[in-house]
Amino acid sequence: MSLRDEARELDAMDPLAGKRAEFDLDPDVSYLDGNSLGAPPRAVAERLTEVVGKQWAGRLIRSWDEGWWAAPERIGDRVAPLVGAAPGQVVVGDSTTVNLFKALVAAVRLNPGRPEILLDDGTFPTDGYIADSAARLTGHVVRRVPVHEMADVASSRTAVALVNHVDYVTGVLHDLPGVTAALRSAGALTVWDLCHSVGAVPVHLDACEVDFAVGCTYKFLNGGPGSPAFLYVARKWLDSFDQPLTGWAGHADPFAMTAGYAGGSGIRRARAGTPDILSMLALDAALDVWLDVTVDQVRAKGLALGDFFLRCLDAGAPGVRVVTPRDHRRGNQISVAWPEAAAARTVMSALTDRGVIGDFRPPDVLRFGLAGLYVRYADVFRAAEELRALSET
Ligand SMILES: *Cc1c(COP(=O)(O)O)cnc(C)c1O
Repeated sequence: MSLRDEARELDAMDPLAGKRAEFDLDPDVSYLDGNSLGAPPRAVAERLTEVVGKQWAGRLIRSWDEGWWAAPERIGDRVAPLVGAAPGQVVVGDSTTVNLFKALVAAVRLNPGRPEILLDDGTFPTDGYIADSAARLTGHVVRRVPVHEMADVASSRTAVALVNHVDYVTGVLHDLPGVTAALRSAGALTVWDLCHSVGAVPVHLDACEVDFAVGCTYKFLNGGPGSPAFLYVARKWLDSFDQPLTGWAGHADPFAMTAGYAGGSGIRRARAGTPDILSMLALDAALDVWLDVTVDQVRAKGLALGDFFLRCLDAGAPGVRVVTPRDHRRGNQISVAWPEAAAARTVMSALTDRGVIGDFRPPDVLRFGLAGLYVRYADVFRAAEELRALSET
């Protein structure tokens, strides 16, 4: 059977095929960039119309007491099962960047007398920028190490390690349970960045005894551009979580308007300022697509899409070098290096013009995200075909 026919058959047999209809997607576009910006669930537009028309216009200021003020914790509890967290430990709000700062500073405050912050040396840049600033502010030093060496490097000098669960360029899936356990036995805390795993790869924060985690919701959770991030604080740290952005929304009694700060109980103290309600309620609607599907199902589809894409690339685009692990120690993308590095960016724009949307990361990497909720086998077949056509020109 040809790979084209196989793609057709795999799509026909796909148990998640029906989910695609819940998204507003052009059938002629092969969208393989859900790892940067998830596609819009249809329910979002309708919900936003209601929020603006009924809640904002209709109820005006009363809406704050009718659900808006409590939305960060309520929606945090909807994200929680997707990352293996029991209720009360996840709050939604701010960006990943801001939440990284809260988590890192709180972590070093909880683990005094240890001068080092370990940082994943392949980290997404914002994590490194924030780690450097948090270290400067708190008198720590940042030590950049490959994730597979963290277990050996962690010592009584390590306050906390900041690690990306999935490498955003290569798609390598790091060993969250193993690294967390090794750090814990060195007395160090962990902050995991789940941006590229939440909604794509099963995560078990409670079971793995992770201390803190952050992640964004506009990638595989489809919350929309700039939708609020989440912050997980393990239950055992909730009472002592001393985060640096002591805004009024995290205060024990915000509307008492008192002069001094006193952190609220539970995950509420991880909040800072007024929540971005429109984005947050768009995310709330987007999370409805998870009501009848599990992360395990989406993971199985993502791996199967990746395996099929690799076969198509091997058969048709021999010039490109696959940089993502072929075994399943990968997240939810396939990255390939283009043979002539200088042309890689142009190749991605040519692909986009041909209706196959992925993205480019310097110096020579083309990334293809495999969001199992809406990507079809036909989409990855087409991506490989177009890559072959471009490599022949
Ligand atoms: C996408 C991404 C971010 C983005 O952070 P923002 O504050 O939302 O801009 C951070 N870290 C990682 C690993 C990412 O993949």
